[in-house]
Amino acid sequence: MEKISVKAARLAEAIGKQVLVRGWIRTRRDSKGGFSFIELNDGSSFASLQIVADGSLSNYESEVKHLTAGSSIAVEGEVKASGGRGQATEVLATKLTLLGGADPETYPLQKKQHSLEKLREWAHLRPRTNTFGAVTRVRNCVSRSIHNFFQEDGFLYIHTPIITASDCEGAGAMFRVTTLDLEKLPRDGSKINHALDFFGKPAYLTVSGQLEGEIFACSLGKVYTFGPTFRAENSNTSRHLSEFWMVEPEVAFNELTDNMDLAEQFLKRIFKDALEQCPEDMAFFNEHYDKTTIETLQKIVVTDFRRLPYTEAVEILEKSGEKFEFPVKWGIDLQSEHERYLTEKHFQGPVILYDYPRTLKPFYMRVNDDDKTVRAMDVLVPKVGEIIGGSQREERLDVLTQRMGEQHLNPDDYWWYLDLRRFGTVPHAGFGLGLERAVQFITGMANIRDVIPFPRTPGSAEF
Ligand code: ATP
Ligand code: MN
Repeated sequence: MEKISVKAARLAEAIGKQVLVRGWIRTRRDSKGGFSFIELNDGSSFASLQIVADGSLSNYESEVKHLTAGSSIAVEGEVKASGGRGQATEVLATKLTLLGGADPETYPLQKKQHSLEKLREWAHLRPRTNTFGAVTRVRNCVSRSIHNFFQEDGFLYIHTPIITASDCEGAGAMFRVTTLDLEKLPRDGSKINHALDFFGKPAYLTVSGQLEGEIFACSLGKVYTFGPTFRAENSNTSRHLSEFWMVEPEVAFNELTDNMDLAEQFLKRIFKDALEQCPEDMAFFNEHYDKTTIETLQKIVVTDFRRLPYTEAVEILEKSGEKFEFPVKWGIDLQSEHERYLTEKHFQGPVILYDYPRTLKPFYMRVNDDDKTVRAMDVLVPKVGEIIGGSQREERLDVLTQRMGEQHLNPDDYWWYLDLRRFGTVPHAGFGLGLERAVQFITGMANIRDVIPFPRTPGSAEF
């Protein structure tokens, strides 16, 4: 008797084996011939395994004929060739044990389709649906692919801190971490006495591992971080989470063009792996959520990404004749509607925009010779918009200090960051990819809340 997954039991190689399979029932269908078909899923593959439960089973009348969707069972039996459509095998049960029933009166996931919004309220059960099984497997594939891509190329995986005391990494509003009693805050005159807090000063959840990543890149060459990231912005959009996972490579001696090359190869690799390693899940997304997703990804992996300066993008938008809600002129932060025009209408594919106005971007991005723009780059894709943001970093101590002044930052708070420019400074560059935006793009799921197991958004941290 071999313990086997549904995925393994579905392979023709399994025919003839005596196996034990366990999982959750999707459907049960009774045949007039006195036996039943059970669709069993255990998450190992999109497709379920057909169990044939014969009337001769000792508990056939008492249990098998009453099995309901969502119940968990263990089945022993032989894998046989199957004549059924879409399956090479089935298991003829010799023993079927009910592990846990699911009362059809109260089990929420009945056969009828539930809206994605409704399923968010049942985040503890939605992994049992086709959609969330598929999302989970693709998300896993992308995570593995990210590590493989960097590991195969000699990058070191760096675990950067989640709690940080540098309060203005430039990336957005932060969540405070404190053990102070909020009902009785210790005061020093009218101000809060932060010295009494856990770390002796204000601390926050990280918005990016970049600055710490730079430390390791400027010692060890090629590194990446991949971890949870927190943004306390009140942005209730389909592309923003309060807690998400970000991948941030950082490479010494790379300039902006190298950074673009890396970002392009990286995205192509994860798209290609998803297509190759999750064909069933991708076919499902293509059929039920976005009829173009497979074709779009296939095209992207073989096409060079368009690269163009921010200034040219603004010219294209100005000449487009489109009525934008936010009018376009040089110096504005591009809005989602502008990004979508460029990627969906004008170029019909991914675009890397670079050399943004210095006033729009954080202090650490390298200033260009024109003094007006910085070596920033954003990778934009259809529908999702910005999927990657990155830059070549400012390696010149004097320019960096001046930029901090411009943005009202205190260089003393960044003494260690400035030390990297004092001792053996080198050109270097990196970027951040939001894992969920990547999974959103690959699957074609419209809302980012449906590609993370337990979404955290303003007003919602259930489960
Ligand atoms: P946006 O303009 O879309 O709000 P950003 O410019 O603030 O993003 P960066 O600081 O450049 O984002 O972060 C790098 C990447 O992290 C983004 O390109 C995106 O893929 C992802 N990302 C940023 N903020 C979020 C968020 N709130 N939820 C999910 N992913 C995010
Ligand atoms: Mn960005």
